[in-house]
Amino acid sequence: MEQQPGAVWVVVEQNGGILAEVTLELLGKARDLAALGGGAHASAVLLGSKIESLAEELIAHGADQVILMDAPRLTLYQNDTYALVLAELVKKHRPEIVLFGASYYGSELSATVAAKLETGLAAHCLDLYINDRGEFVQVVPAFGGMILGDILCPTARPQLASVKPGMFQKPDRDTTRSGETLIETPTVLEGYASPLKAVRVVQSQPAGLPLEKAATVVAGGWGVGQEAWHFLDQLAGELSGAVGCTRPALDEGWAAGEHAMIGTSGKTVRPQVYIGFGVSGATHHMAGMKDSGVIININKDPAATVFQVSDYGVVADAKELLPVLLEKIREYKGKSKSQATIKCIQ
Ligand SMILES: Cc1cc2nc3c(=O)[nH]c(=O)nc-3n(C[C@H](O)[C@H](O)[C@H](O)COP(=O)(O)OP(=O)(O)OC[C@H]3O[C@@H](n4cnc5c(N)ncnc54)[C@H](O)[C@@H]3O)c2cc1C
Repeated sequence: MEQQPGAVWVVVEQNGGILAEVTLELLGKARDLAALGGGAHASAVLLGSKIESLAEELIAHGADQVILMDAPRLTLYQNDTYALVLAELVKKHRPEIVLFGASYYGSELSATVAAKLETGLAAHCLDLYINDRGEFVQVVPAFGGMILGDILCPTARPQLASVKPGMFQKPDRDTTRSGETLIETPTVLEGYASPLKAVRVVQSQPAGLPLEKAATVVAGGWGVGQEAWHFLDQLAGELSGAVGCTRPALDEGWAAGEHAMIGTSGKTVRPQVYIGFGVSGATHHMAGMKDSGVIININKDPAATVFQVSDYGVVADAKELLPVLLEKIREYKGKSKSQATIKCIQ
């Protein structure tokens, strides 16, 4: 009988006992990959302290096996200790594929583990599949996001990949599923004195409506500039939406914070309406907004790539158009309000 390769692993991301959505999304994909011959079965690797109860949840979302390492030293994520124990587990169990969420946690951890194991890592994948030859294909944006590249890892094992949140469908929770829990102890940490000590995790909460929940997303790119950025906030306010941005706008500090970035390294949004101002249309950004309902873009360059994915395109200077647009919307809202008042009086 043909020997099946090792398992497909998902490294679980949890904070204070709450599972990250990306972990569940990856579990669904891990099951698909295993079913297509990418690995013997899907396993979730769960590190932390007092997190045993999460094993059931992971099985309900598709894990055939949970590899559990529950120890006080693993209470808070710390790159060096987590990477050490993960590398040790990989050497012991020899999985075929190891998947991480491309969050801050997963991006950092996957790179450290890959270096320790001297194997490859395809970062920020947009898709993963098993091809006709039974090879694991990792699809990444390449050459500045202009093309999508297929990455194969023919010899080194395991094959490591990180995938950004929102790329795969979260599987339905099925509490009738059964799976095994394998308990491991972090022996590799015995005698290891870390130079770091994680004290606590502080999560900043973005003000206003979360980007991924907004029905209207107003996105700003490099073309908006700092001086006109405040118009985006006002426009989003008028439309009861949220403001998103591209990488350069984030790097310049115009946007509110990391949580506002849309794209392969940021959020995936599917609003009813996406309105982009001064966005060129790089694949890295479009990967995070292409499934929006109606896509409108304003760019002063008629040949901008972004117009290729737009339902409506406006060739205009965003800095000049934004205040005019705001004025018109307010005028319209004012009118419809006074009409409504007249109707009420009548
Ligand atoms: C590994 C990797 C991951 C990345 N991940 C992301 C990501 O998640 N999200 C992301 O957004 N980017 C990401 N990037 C960067 C991405 O490749 C692009 O560089 C970026 O999206 C371009 O942003 P932009 O459209 O704002 O800027 P630019 O490409 O500089 O485009 C600016 C546009 O504004 C137009 N313009 C200029 N002035 C005006 C004006 N006054 N009025 C109207 N239009 C104007 C220009 O014609 C141009 O089309 C990533 C890059 C790498 C290498």
